[in-house]
Amino acid sequence: VLPRVAIVGRPNVGKSTLFNRFIGSRKAITDPTPGVTRDPIFQRAEFDETACMLIDTGGLTESRDYLDTLITSKSLSTIEQADILVFVLDVTEVTPEDEEFINRLRQLSSRIILAVNKVDNEQREQMVWEYYRLGFDTIFPISATHGEGIDELVEELKLRI
Ligand code: GDP
Ligand code: MG
Repeated sequence: VLPRVAIVGRPNVGKSTLFNRFIGSRKAITDPTPGVTRDPIFQRAEFDETACMLIDTGGLTESRDYLDTLITSKSLSTIEQADILVFVLDVTEVTPEDEEFINRLRQLSSRIILAVNKVDNEQREQMVWEYYRLGFDTIFPISATHGEGIDELVEELKLRI
């Protein structure tokens, strides 16, 4: 059985874009409209000689109670069965729901990697520091659309898988 790496986070933070970046194709649908990924998407991926099962979680809507939707949905079992979670934030918009989401995930899994996405320029790099208050030792700033920071994130995944 391959180790499972699930990409999680609220709608529109760039999970599917990151998933596609990891696998180098367009398997997951990305869209400016939140909640476009209806079901988890599984894809075997290899980072050099390290293989894993990548999972793009979805099936959530933009509703205010999406966390409750998550907790009662299929996505929860996907998360529970994952060996590693890549939690994705949007550097331009971290909401109280994001923080609540992270705290709930911490109860489910201690193996969470925090990726802060949409760090497209230097100004946004400066915004990343703020998120050390969330209590992670390391934060991976990335730009899923431009490819920045992806190598470092992959190296971390390889260490943890
Ligand atoms: P998901 O709902 O979390 O799967 O998010 P998507 O991958 O569908 O992306 C949502 C929107 O954010 C799309 O318009 C993406 O093009 C955009 N997006 C994703 N990654 C980045 C990034 O690194 N920088 C910027 N500026 N936009 C991004
Ligand atoms: Mg998606």
